[in-house]
Amino acid sequence: MKLKNKVCIVTGAARGIGEGIAKRYVEEGARVVIADLKLEVAQETAEKLSVMGPGTAMGVAMDVTNEQAVNDGVARVAKEWGGIDVLVSNAGIQIVHKIEDFPFADWKKLLSIHLDGAFLTSKACIPHMYERKAGSIIFMGSVHSKEASPLKSAYVTAKHGLLGLARVISKEGAEHGVRANVICPGFVKTPLVEKQIPEQAKELGISEKEVVNKIMLGETVDKEFTTIEDVAEVALLFASFPTNALTGQSLVVSHGWFME
Ligand code: NAD
Repeated sequence: MKLKNKVCIVTGAARGIGEGIAKRYVEEGARVVIADLKLEVAQETAEKLSVMGPGTAMGVAMDVTNEQAVNDGVARVAKEWGGIDVLVSNAGIQIVHKIEDFPFADWKKLLSIHLDGAFLTSKACIPHMYERKAGSIIFMGSVHSKEASPLKSAYVTAKHGLLGLARVISKEGAEHGVRANVICPGFVKTPLVEKQIPEQAKELGISEKEVVNKIMLGETVDKEFTTIEDVAEVALLFASFPTNALTGQSLVVSHGWFME
């Protein structure tokens, strides 16, 4: 098992990609924290994953934009499970508007969840990782960390920003054995994406089928969605990689939508 007894915090893990990463980590023997907005939902996911084993999971209520909630949650995990080995900052939302119509409040909300969330969780976990002289921090980026699309000014800005934060952490963390990397998935069919299909169809004046076939999958090599399992496999690679050789990097997993 690649993560036996490792303590891994995954934010936004009650559902979607975060849940898939948590499941993959539990399969590899990890102790996984399902950190999400609502305690009951986080606990429900944690119980489901613990039954599957061989690792275990616990639910923690955490709004990643709230410094106190992040600090309290991380401190509780470190106390109960003796430290922190892996952080996956995954919690995120999507809001689409043309830039001239983008409400400032929505801009701030999106940036706060993606960027403040990554900063606050990293800041809280890093001292525990430095103490152990080891740790892996993983940010959930996107093809939109590298590429732009209309209507997504806030999302594209936030996802590009995560690359910079990961690079700084990898430079500061190296002497303490802490690595930082970014996963950049293409479109994955989760509630976040299901919600965008009718919204984009309306904004762009095209059919939902055209949104899927042209906008979401038009540039892929095989017209396939990326899966939660694909993303979880990359998250396992970054979490379990044994040395500082793999740090400050971003890996695109998108059926060839974006090639570099
Ligand atoms: P999702 O909507 O299915 O799940 C997001 C989870 O984050 C939910 O459980 C939600 O409760 C939680 N969350 C939202 N705000 C939070 C907050 N303030 N604090 C804590 N938790 C919060 O979304 P998903 O598709 O699984 O996306 C997960 C991540 O992957 C996001 O960062 C997203 O930008 C990124 N991503 C998704 C896709 C895709 O196509 N689905 C592609 C590339 C990147």
